[in-house]
Amino acid sequence: MGSYEENFLAKRPQHLCHMCGKCCRVVTTSVPYPELCEMAEKGDKGARDFLSLFVPYQSIEAARKVDASIVDNIIMRLSDDGNYNEQEITFYGCKYLQPDNLCSRYDTRLTLCKHCPSSPWSIVPPGCGFEGWLFWQREEIKQKIRRSKEELIELQLLKKKTTNPENLKKILSVEQKIQKNIDAYKKYGSQDW
Ligand code: SF4
Ligand code: SF4
Repeated sequence: MGSYEENFLAKRPQHLCHMCGKCCRVVTTSVPYPELCEMAEKGDKGARDFLSLFVPYQSIEAARKVDASIVDNIIMRLSDDGNYNEQEITFYGCKYLQPDNLCSRYDTRLTLCKHCPSSPWSIVPPGCGFEGWLFWQREEIKQKIRRSKEELIELQLLKKKTTNPENLKKILSVEQKIQKNIDAYKKYGSQDW
């Protein structure tokens, strides 16, 4: 049994990575650049780590000149989710990416690099080797949420039959836990799955 980190990494089929360097060349963040700088100043480790690697492009056009397909894919995905704001978006490129698409500090790369793509809902560049894997990761989560919804229905029926206050309390507690789990994926649309 390894550490959390070892287990996390062991679950990722790292061989899927084509080492194309696209996810290091053009990326964006969910928070605007000024906010990210503020977070880093206040000591936020994630923001500090990110800004220690990534340098902002001067404009969207500047990023597009580096790789238009990545920029347009990100803008399209954010627009589809209703999260695109041209005034607030910044694209970045990593200063450690070499012209041959390899990382110049691979052995000492940060956790945020090892975890990329970090979530099943991460926006990966077109053609990224993880696209299919991420799709199935999302499907597995959706299946779990659907099962949770079935459990909620069963609990509703059980509640109607239960008269013992202690048992009722236990049912309500289980219901709350299940609902919390469903709500954790609300921003990805769990209410509609
Ligand atoms: S974009 Fe995908 S395939 Fe390319 S280097 Fe990044 S993780 Fe690997
Ligand atoms: S440090 Fe290496 S792995 Fe991390 S973003 Fe930069 S080039 Fe990519």
